[in-house]
Amino acid sequence: MENKKYDILSLPLSEIERIVIELGEPKFRAKQIFGWMLKGMWGEEMRNIPLSLQKKLDDVCEFRLPKVKRKLVSKIDGTVKYLFELIDGEYIESVFMRYEHGNTLCISSQVGCRMGCKFCASTLLGRVRDLTPSEMLGQIIAAQRDTGERVSNVVMMGIGEPLDNYDNTVSFLKLVSSDEGLNIGLRHISVSTCGLVPKIDQMASEGLPITLSVSLHAYDNEVRSGIMPVNNKYPIEELLSACNRYFVRTGRRISFEYTLIAGKNDTVEGAARLASVLKKYVHGTCHVNLIPLNEVEETRLETSKNVNAFKNKLVSLGINATVRRKLGSDINASCGQLRRQEKGKN
Ligand code: SAH
Repeated sequence: MENKKYDILSLPLSEIERIVIELGEPKFRAKQIFGWMLKGMWGEEMRNIPLSLQKKLDDVCEFRLPKVKRKLVSKIDGTVKYLFELIDGEYIESVFMRYEHGNTLCISSQVGCRMGCKFCASTLLGRVRDLTPSEMLGQIIAAQRDTGERVSNVVMMGIGEPLDNYDNTVSFLKLVSSDEGLNIGLRHISVSTCGLVPKIDQMASEGLPITLSVSLHAYDNEVRSGIMPVNNKYPIEELLSACNRYFVRTGRRISFEYTLIAGKNDTVEGAARLASVLKKYVHGTCHVNLIPLNEVEETRLETSKNVNAFKNKLVSLGINATVRRKLGSDINASCGQLRRQEKGKN
């Protein structure tokens, strides 16, 4: 039986050095190879790597970047949405956004999702599989290669639940932030979760100064369980207590996401209840990011008209709140919808 090849882009430089030495080559080659891979280059594109070593590497390693299957570019703000094809023919999405403070890439962490949030397109077909660290990193490398621009911020808010793919997410975070790697600072990376409490505690102990974003979307258990099944397992009090522990342990302010859905969670009274539940459980400053619902045909949920009133109420009660600027509105730039369209063709 053929030995399994190394998924080389998932490995830290020290491991690549070990492989290079095993192949009877000098250690410095590892750094060169690593540098090429981060540019999305392999094989004969690695110009200063001797052909003999290129061949040896091909025998023991596999290097595959996500392939651009479709690409939509917003005429309004230049936002680019990618549908990437993976090695096994599965699809994921990433979104490249230009902000004043630099370019942000929103990446996927799983093929599909099993969390079942009622408003979300990514979960409609369930979860197919986890992404490997190299597939997460590969989205950034492929987007940089395609745009010719550097990504300086990463948000794990694409398809999937990053904390449901915990080990690969942590490996990815270490890889992407390493000095010799893409060197994207952990403070420039947000990991978004629907609220897997034990994993939030585990993340707090990793010593990684990422920003944790928690998808709250509700001010009480009735509302939250109605739109997010995960709340049946980890109710809002437990989730917010975990957020507080995270803050105490790491000193990092948690950011809450709150998608406003007409008639579900968007009244001014709801804003007041949100303010009081946050103050009760979370003892640091917290920030609420309000997101107007992106309508997904299958869910029949509608976006709220109360966004500003909701925000003003929160602010008047001393809660830091902003409305997320919508980029790429002409290309439906939130995740999950392109993959569904593409799957529907087969
Ligand atoms: N699973 C993670 C990260 C992926 S979703 C999480 O739940 O946080 C990224 C964010 O987009 C989450 O806050 C999610 O609730 C939100 N979201 C999903 N579908 C949406 C939609 N149709 N409109 C607006 N926000 C949505």
